[in-house]
Amino acid sequence: MKRVSQPKAPRRKSSRESQIIEVINQLDQFLGAQQIHKILSNEKSSIGLATIYRRLELLSAEGKIDAIISPTGERLYRRCGQIEGHHHHLICRLCGATEEIDLEAVESITARIARRYGYQDISHSLEVFGICASCQSIQTSSIKSVSKAKLR
Ligand SMILES: [Zn+2]
Ligand SMILES: [Zn+2]
Ligand SMILES: [Zn+2]
Repeated sequence: MKRVSQPKAPRRKSSRESQIIEVINQLDQFLGAQQIHKILSNEKSSIGLATIYRRLELLSAEGKIDAIISPTGERLYRRCGQIEGHHHHLICRLCGATEEIDLEAVESITARIARRYGYQDISHSLEVFGICASCQSIQTSSIKSVSKAKLR
């Protein structure tokens, strides 16, 4: 194997990145840069918010983490699940539970539309938001108990 030359980045930078990745790895749900900044500050880290934003964007561009836009327009990040490469997410609006999903129909439709208009090198992002099964059962059980209380 050919020897790989040392990366140019100084050591301090990579340790910042690993601190951010460490927090991301602990997360099960999508979080914004500000929330990640708060977690890091609580762990006595001195990484500034602007650096965190930049690092998160780089990591998502490299495909190391997932980035989505929430229904309120906020950029959110999370460690990527099991699906490699391009994929989509089904996200619970209440608890943040996330499923990694393939949307093959979307891939072929967008490719066809782009071809029709003569576009090349296309990309898209599409996330599906809803309320997961366990949040639904919590909701219905609380509604049931309310209506039971009314009957009494
Ligand atoms: Zn993912
Ligand atoms: Zn949920
Ligand atoms: Zn897609």
